[in-house]
Amino acid sequence: MCKRQKIQYRCGHQVYSGGIEYCSKAKKGAGGKRIRCDHQRTTTMRSSGDVCGKSSCQLSILRGKWDCCKCNECGNKFPLCDRGSCNHEVCGQCRAARS
Ligand SMILES: [Zn+2]
Ligand SMILES: [Zn+2]
Ligand SMILES: [Zn+2]
Ligand SMILES: [Zn+2]
Repeated sequence: MCKRQKIQYRCGHQVYSGGIEYCSKAKKGAGGKRIRCDHQRTTTMRSSGDVCGKSSCQLSILRGKWDCCKCNECGNKFPLCDRGSCNHEVCGQCRAARS
């Protein structure tokens, strides 16, 4: 079974990390390129508190910490506002936390 590892970031995005770990059943394609076997397993690892850093990721744009534009809750670290009743997901109007 070939293995691959994904990292789950705090922002909710998942990114593949590193290459595929091939097993003995992996085949070789044209040009010696390896092809994984039919039984790939992906393990997901939780990142200890990072954001993915993608330019399309609002939480990354706000450097992983934001103030809510709806209820002004400060220092949110997850895509959804910490104030339970607010239910607002980080958007373009939310601001990066100052601290
Ligand atoms: Zn395999
Ligand atoms: Zn992200
Ligand atoms: Zn809020
Ligand atoms: Zn907002």
